Order: sequence, then C-alpha cells, then structure tokens
Amino acid sequence: MGLLTNKVEREKLKPGDHIYTYRAVFAYSHHGIFLGGCKVIHFRPEQDLNPPPESSSSSSGPYDSPEGLCPTSPDCGFRQPNSGVVLSCLDCFLKNGSLYLFEYGVSPSVFLTKVRGGTCTTASSDPPEAVIHRTMYLLQNGFGNYDIFQNNCEDFALYCKTGLLIMDKLGVGRSGQASSVVGAPLAALLSSPFKLLIPSPVGVATVTAGMYCMSRYATDIGVRSDVIKVAVEDLALNLLDGKALEQGEGSETDTVG
Ligand SMILES: [Zn+2]
Repeated sequence: MGLLTNKVEREKLKPGDHIYTYRAVFAYSHHGIFLGGCKVIHFRPEQDLNPPPESSSSSSGPYDSPEGLCPTSPDCGFRQPNSGVVLSCLDCFLKNGSLYLFEYGVSPSVFLTKVRGGTCTTASSDPPEAVIHRTMYLLQNGFGNYDIFQNNCEDFALYCKTGLLIMDKLGVGRSGQASSVVGAPLAALLSSPFKLLIPSPVGVATVTAGMYCMSRYATDIGVRSDVIKVAVEDLALNLLDGKALEQGEGSETDTVG
C-alpha cells in the first residue's frame, strides 16, 4: 500500500474492513463494509435505489442489483423495505471499479498528506466483530424513514467501524468526502471558521494548501469534539429523540469548536 493510494487486492481483505471504490471517473467514492467471502454491506441513498416493484413479481423483489438479477449471488441486493442499507456481492459493489481500503488510526501527519478527502481517518476502528455486528444489525433492522445516513455512504461505513456519530445542528455527520467538496472553494475557506485554527499570520500562498488540509483535519471524525459513541441497538431510539428535538427547537445558532 503506497502513501498516496490505498488500492488493495481483494484477497487481502479481512472481514470488517471498510472499503471503497471510485464511481463516475473519480467524481465520488462509494463506501462499504466488507463482510468476508464476497459480501459487502453499503448504504445507498433512497433516490439511488431501484423503485419498488409495482407487481408482486418475485424476480426483482426488494433487491437492488444493478441491472436486475445479479449473475453470481442470489442474495445480492438484499435490503429491508425503505432501507438504504444494502447487501451486495463485491462485484456489484465495485462495478468494475478499483478496490481501495479505508485506513483507520492514521497519524495526523499521514492524514494531512492524503491528497483526497475520504480515504482515511485518525479515528481508530473497533474490533472486526463489533464492526460486523453493527453492520449486520443495520442491514437487518433497516432505518425505515430515518434519514441519519441520508447524506453519505461514507458516514455509514465510518459509523459501522467506530460507533461514532457526529451530532451537529443538522444531526448528520460531515465526513471527509463531504468536507472536501464543500470546502474546496478558496473563498469559502477564507471566510470559514477554520481560519481560527491557523495560529499566526502566514503567506497567502502557503495558507491556501494548508487551510484545505486543516479544514479536512478539523472535520475528521477522529479529532472532532462533537462526536458521540452510539451503540447500534440505541441508534434508532436516539434518532427518534434527535428528530423530535430538532423539529422542536429549530435552533439556528451553534457554537464553534
Ligand atoms: Zn452481485
């Protein structure tokens, strides 16, 4: 595994690994948890899923393989009704894309050398058994209409690996992939609260690159102060409470840091 690429051979994967692949020519990455064998569980926003079948035809059912039935795995595409958590075979997950391993427990210096967001975190992973337990629980129980993971397949995988959720005023996490897109425009960076993290005035040229990295580092789940560890069994309950609170207060104010 090189410093700037996390590309990995599928034979090297271990159950509970967080894997990802790039879709649409590097436009975005798609993340999932490897279960072992050729199974992957990943999260897809509802709008990306095939519409539920109109008839009772058993050929498609609640399944979600790319072009109808998966040729290799009969349970590929399994998901609960209204849940975006999907079981796929590795081939359908990758869709001919390359396979990458998301790194956990990297040092801040390594984190800052990564060119793209959403490839590693300074947070450490829980043991594989805990990761697979969370993942399977979410697959089996689904999320109904809960939109906690509506954002991002990366947030889903990060939660399965660490049990950590970022509770900001939107109630949803900001993963590396999202922050690198949101934070890209320089103007937005310069006017953002992240400039407070730069301790002393430095040249604009060096600030440009530095601030991009700092903004990524500040939003990394491993260094944030507003993450909470949530047991998967409590997740649905917490989500219900969180949604009620969110709708009840509708507060716009938030404290920085
Ligand atoms: Zn498949």
